[in-house]
Amino acid sequence: MTALPDTAPTRAAPPGQRSPLPDVEPEQSTFFDRFLVGIFVVVPLVAVAAAVPLAWGWGLGWHDIVIAAVFYVIAGMGISMGFHRHFTHGSFKAAKPLRVAMAIGGSLAVEGPVLVWVADHRRHHKYSDREGDPHSPWRFGNDWKALSKGLAYAHVGWLFDPNRTSQQKFCPDLLADRPIRRVSKTFPLWAAVSLLGPALIGGLWSMSWAGALTAFFWASLVRICLLHHVTWSINSVCHTFGTEDFETRDKSRNFAWLAIPSFGESWHNLHHADPTCARHGALRGQIDISARVIRWAEQLGWAWDVRWPDSQRLSPKLTGLRNVSLGAMTKGMGAANAVTSDQPTAMMGE
Ligand SMILES: [Zn+2]
Ligand SMILES: [Zn+2]
Repeated sequence: MTALPDTAPTRAAPPGQRSPLPDVEPEQSTFFDRFLVGIFVVVPLVAVAAAVPLAWGWGLGWHDIVIAAVFYVIAGMGISMGFHRHFTHGSFKAAKPLRVAMAIGGSLAVEGPVLVWVADHRRHHKYSDREGDPHSPWRFGNDWKALSKGLAYAHVGWLFDPNRTSQQKFCPDLLADRPIRRVSKTFPLWAAVSLLGPALIGGLWSMSWAGALTAFFWASLVRICLLHHVTWSINSVCHTFGTEDFETRDKSRNFAWLAIPSFGESWHNLHHADPTCARHGALRGQIDISARVIRWAEQLGWAWDVRWPDSQRLSPKLTGLRNVSLGAMTKGMGAANAVTSDQPTAMMGE
């Protein structure tokens, strides 16, 4: 656990907002705080994992596992590579069929329509861990009671906030994009596909109603639940626990345990240090599945203008608190390769 520098800048609140939250220190979190995270996140996941051997042969089979895995990867990549890196932050440009495929894939995660997701997430970056952030675990304070309440709020409570993020303000680019707006509008259809598709496939695969039912349970309900928790953990866990390798003005952290199930999203500290970067696991040894798939898309000509990590941009931001170095796929040291931080992505990156 490491401290933010004392000089971490805070911004004045925009007109109509209350003053910024105090810049609380992460050292304040205790063992009990970590225990609470375990209850909120890890224990239900362990319970689901424990149910697998218990249910094997009694309502769970290979069909269910395969269908669940395929839907998990399509929806998870749709969120990570599509909703987050492409649509929210513009970290690469993509051919229209790939854009539509990513918008539909992310919709299968049942985390809301793409325009709503992007608007909320751009607002999160604009105010991260300060007044106005839709899901900061630090919103209630930094003692254990406030933090446990904040973790629950950042994880799932914020979804029940009746205030809706303005799409006109936060994603006018997507509102003007007809195919993407259409995918967003037809979200109920994609949610239905995500729920009923596995049942249909499971039923046809086993040619039985029982096969449809078990696929519905495992590959629809359990799979959606797992991906929800992994995504929500980026908002709760990755703003509270983990390592701080890059200087940011918020509490974002890198949390290695979630790197694989989140397709690289849990390298959240780098992400807040350089939001438009296409690779979040930019340090040596950090697995980032989404970055790998973006690279494949780039090689196929489906993606271009990819904002790969740039040592000129990232090196000055390293905190030096741990002995780490930038990994492969980082652009070279030459000034000609440098990407300045004032690229025209203020809304996307913040
Ligand atoms: Zn964040
Ligand atoms: Zn982001």
